[in-house]
Amino acid sequence: MKPYAYCPICGKELAPSFLEGRQRMVCLECGWIHYSNPLPVAIACTLNAQGELLLIRRAHEPAFNEWALPGGFLESGEHPEEGCLRELKEETSLEGRVERLIGVYHRESTMYGSLLAVAYAVTASHEDIRINHEVFEAGFYPVERMPEVRIPLHLQIIREHRDAMESKRA
Ligand SMILES: [Zn+2]
Repeated sequence: MKPYAYCPICGKELAPSFLEGRQRMVCLECGWIHYSNPLPVAIACTLNAQGELLLIRRAHEPAFNEWALPGGFLESGEHPEEGCLRELKEETSLEGRVERLIGVYHRESTMYGSLLAVAYAVTASHEDIRINHEVFEAGFYPVERMPEVRIPLHLQIIREHRDAMESKRA
């Protein structure tokens, strides 16, 4: 992520300045400050009625061709739960119900910079999967026979959800 070089308001060159405890780019002409905030992402840890986990194989960067949980960037004005279900539907055409918040996570991504990820446990309301262009394949897998997930954040979400479900049963 390259920092902005020019003011998006007045077009003048930005200058680095130490403001409110951080180095920021500011416009000396109009006073605009570039607050660099994390991008919010919603992730759906989706189970079917049999407790099998929905995984997709990604058809785009980052993590091209990796098995993953569905998810994506939130839109303005959207509740994270809505964004989570929207992304799930876009990628797999599945509809579902948010059951609970699994966790909120921070990651540094080389492609997008700071990410704030919100992960929900979702129950799919049907299993009629139709994938879009972002995905090579998708399916529900029993935990003991699922494809290897190698994205650390997604692994952590799957593990934390499983642990929470097991401690609830115990
Ligand atoms: Zn300006």
